[in-house]
Amino acid sequence: MYVSDCIDINAKGHLTIGGADTVELAEKFGTPAYVLDEDEIRKNCRAFVKSIDDNYNGNGLALYASKALCCKEMCRIVKDEGMGLDVVSGGELFTALSVDFPAEKICFHGNNKTYSELVYAVDSGVGRVIVDNITELETLNKIAAEKNKKVRILLRIKPGIDAHTHDFIKTGQIDSKFGFAIETGEAIEAVRLALASSNIDLSGLHCHIGSQIFELDPFELAAKVMLDFMLLVKNKTGAELSELNLGGGFGIKYLSSDSPRPFTEYMERVSKVVKAYAGELGLKVPFIYIEPGRSIVGAAGITLYTVGAVKTIPNVRTYVSIDGGMGDNPRYILYQADYEIVCANKANRERDFVATVAGKCCESGDLIQENTKIQRVQPCDILAVLSTGAYNYSMASNYNRIPRPPIVMVQNGKARLAVKGETYEDIVRNDI
Ligand SMILES: *Cc1c(COP(=O)(O)O)cnc(C)c1O
Repeated sequence: MYVSDCIDINAKGHLTIGGADTVELAEKFGTPAYVLDEDEIRKNCRAFVKSIDDNYNGNGLALYASKALCCKEMCRIVKDEGMGLDVVSGGELFTALSVDFPAEKICFHGNNKTYSELVYAVDSGVGRVIVDNITELETLNKIAAEKNKKVRILLRIKPGIDAHTHDFIKTGQIDSKFGFAIETGEAIEAVRLALASSNIDLSGLHCHIGSQIFELDPFELAAKVMLDFMLLVKNKTGAELSELNLGGGFGIKYLSSDSPRPFTEYMERVSKVVKAYAGELGLKVPFIYIEPGRSIVGAAGITLYTVGAVKTIPNVRTYVSIDGGMGDNPRYILYQADYEIVCANKANRERDFVATVAGKCCESGDLIQENTKIQRVQPCDILAVLSTGAYNYSMASNYNRIPRPPIVMVQNGKARLAVKGETYEDIVRNDI
């Protein structure tokens, strides 16, 4: 009925997640609060791990793109499910290592890793550094040489695929800050330089064509473009690269009307293409990585808010204001992201009330959704915004000095804190 299997309605007519009554959760933990269903997260992890086993003979590794939601508990869950991790900053790496995440299963991304982040990556022995540019390649080689180490890398390549998604999250084309373009010759130059770098071990290539992609064709095409380039590398340099990282970006359900493909279908289709096309080109079938982020956590999470003022402007619209907003969910103000919103304590009533759900920040653009259908609400009702598990907490800010909400983890109807909510003391902690 809703965007995720973990969401339901109980006998009281209250919205539930992972079997827990969201109205009770709101009472117990306060609002706003992020709530995630652990079993749903684990189910998604398993789907990706299994799909590599089933379709690709286990000759690959699914990495959770931790930028979607990074906290210790997420790292523990992902580690427990046997996945690797993709991090894009020293902070994400630190979070992972603080729960003893195996460093060799971590890939370090980013288009402008700082010197100290590169040192940190080398010192902690991350499995692969995904090198984005020549400056980074040279710096990394120097750092590794000073430490008498050899660092395994993948090069980030722009396959130039239009993945039909929002402009802001399209990263595969030439005009992107990420990676090396094939067409311009930069990519092959980077390969040559990497091969010639004494303390660099070039394991393979990486690409990521965008996010929230529903079609499978762009992924297939990207895989082919990358294999074509691997052949070019082999012909021009003699090096046969053994690894191919195809990135993430698998679309999830934000609205009931969204119909993403089952994640398993992706590996089914792409592994067929990779195996067949590698054979056709006379290349060894590469070890493969995939990097699901939002597809692991997005639909497994919701955010609970309490309704405050309800303001009807005749012939214009009705604003329903909540006790959170762009501070805990900046995705609407950033890219007009779609969300479905439900009144948690009236979940079994009709959604026949058109409202603009507004946050409490001093920005007119601080909205969660405009003119969306929810139940008729009044002050003190609880609103649940669905599919907020990814890129909400991880993008949260303290704008207006509003403390970040807690993360509550639910499993089989039982709830526990995974991340404490911030206090006002936390807000001034670093102020001198
Ligand atoms: C953001 C990102 C991902 C994950 O994207 P999702 O849309 O959350 O699956 C994977 N790999 C890279 C390199 C990314 O930048």
